[in-house]
Amino acid sequence: MEKIGMTTPIVEMDGDEMTRVLWKMIKDELICPYVELKSEYYDLGLKNRDATDDQITIDSANAAKKYGVAVKCATITPNAARVKEYDLKEMWKSPNGTIRAILDGTVFRAPIVVKGIDPYVRTWKKPITIARHAYGDLYKNVEMIIPGPGKAELVFTAADGTETRETVFDYQGPGVLQGIHNLCASIESFAKSCFNYALDTKQDLWFACKDTISKKYDHTFKDIFQEIFDAQYKEKFEAAGITYFYTLIDDAVARVMKSEGGFIWACKNYDGDVMSDMVSSAFGSLAMMTSVLVSPDGVYEYEAAHGTVQRHYYKHLKGEETSTNSVATIFAWTGALRKRGELDGIAELCAYADRLEQAVIRTIESGKMTKDLALITSLENVTVLNSEAFIKAVRATYEELCR
Ligand code: NAP
Ligand code: MG
Repeated sequence: MEKIGMTTPIVEMDGDEMTRVLWKMIKDELICPYVELKSEYYDLGLKNRDATDDQITIDSANAAKKYGVAVKCATITPNAARVKEYDLKEMWKSPNGTIRAILDGTVFRAPIVVKGIDPYVRTWKKPITIARHAYGDLYKNVEMIIPGPGKAELVFTAADGTETRETVFDYQGPGVLQGIHNLCASIESFAKSCFNYALDTKQDLWFACKDTISKKYDHTFKDIFQEIFDAQYKEKFEAAGITYFYTLIDDAVARVMKSEGGFIWACKNYDGDVMSDMVSSAFGSLAMMTSVLVSPDGVYEYEAAHGTVQRHYYKHLKGEETSTNSVATIFAWTGALRKRGELDGIAELCAYADRLEQAVIRTIESGKMTKDLALITSLENVTVLNSEAFIKAVRATYEELCR
C-alpha cells in the first residue's frame, strides 16, 4: 500500500510519562505505516522544557500559529513534588495555559461515543461538546474576608481620572467579598470560536448564562454573542442547516438532560469547568474524551482531555504491564490529520483519519478494549488488552477495513 502524502507539516508537541509512551506506539503502529508524516516536532517533555527555560513551549505555540494545525501529547504541569522529582530550575507554568494564552483560543471537549460504553443519561445518543470560555470571572478574581461592619464599594477610575462608584454592600457584621472581571475582546473571541466550530462540525450551538439576574455582566455575554451572530453568522448557519440558541443556564441544564445530544454547549468559565466534568463522567470515561483548542483566527490544537496517567507510567517503569487507554490520543492525531487534509485539500488524508477512527470504534465494539473500559462496559465476552496489544488490535482492524 502506498503511503498517503502530506503537503504542509502539522506541529507535533510531544509530552510526558505514559502518554509519551503511547505517543510513540501510536506513531509507529498507526500513523507512520500509512502516512508519509510531515511534522515539525517539539519536545514538550518536562526535561526539555526545563532545559530550554520553557522556550520550547512558546516556540511550539508560535509554530501552531504559523502552520494552523497541531497535535499535543499530555504534559506534566509541575507542582512542588515534580520540581523535586525532575530537579527543575523553576516550577514551570502549565504548557496548556501558555499555549492558550498565545493562541487566545477556546477549548472544545467532546466524548467519543461507542456502543457498549453507555452514557449514564439514557436519552443521550450523540456526543455533547462543551465549549469553555477560558478567561476571567472566578479564575481571575479578587477576594476579601470582611472582618466586621463597614461599606464595600465598586470603584472604576477611568483613564481621565473620573470615578464611577457603586455600593456593593453595607456590612453590619463579618462576611466575604469578591470582585471579578471580563473583557469584551475575550468574549468576542470566545463567541467567534464557538460559531466557527459549530459551522465546522455542523452542530447546533447553545449558549447559556444568567442574564436575568446579572443584568450587566452576564447580559454583556448574551449581547455580544447575539450581535456577532446576527452580523456575521446568521446566514452561514442557515445555509449549513444549524441553529444558534440562547437560554438561561438553569433551563439549559434541564434541556441538556432531556436531549439526544449532538450539539455544542458554550459555557462561561466556571460553568464550563463544572459542566465539562459532569458531561465527561456521564458519558463514561475521561479516557474517551477529546479536546481541541480553536483560536478565533482558525488555529487548531488537538489533544486528549486526560493527563499523563502517572500511576500507569510508574508501573511501566517497573517493567509491569499496563492497560492504558490510547483512544483519546489516537483521536487527537486523527483530528489533526483530518484538519490538515481539509485545509490542504487532501481527501485521502481525511479518509484515512475517518477509517482509523472507525477502526478504533470497531475494535472496542468487538469486545477488545483496555481495562478502564472493560470495567464499565455493558458488552459481554470482553478481552482486556494491554496498552500495546490494544494499539496492535486497532491496526489489525484498520487493515481489515482497507481490504
Ligand atoms: P490523569 O493523568 O488524567 O489520570 C488520572 C487517573 O485517571 C489515572 O490514574 C487513571 O486511573 C485514569 N486515566 C486517565 N487517563 C487514562 C487513560 N488514558 N487510560 C486509563 N486510565 C486513565 O490525571 P492525574 O494523574 O491527575 O495527572 C497526571 C499528570 O498529568 C499531572 O502531572 C498533571 O499535571 C498532568 N495533566 C496534564 C493534562 C494535559 O496535558 N492536558 C491534563 C490533566 C493533567 P487509574 O489510576 O485508576 O487507572
Ligand atoms: Mg474542573
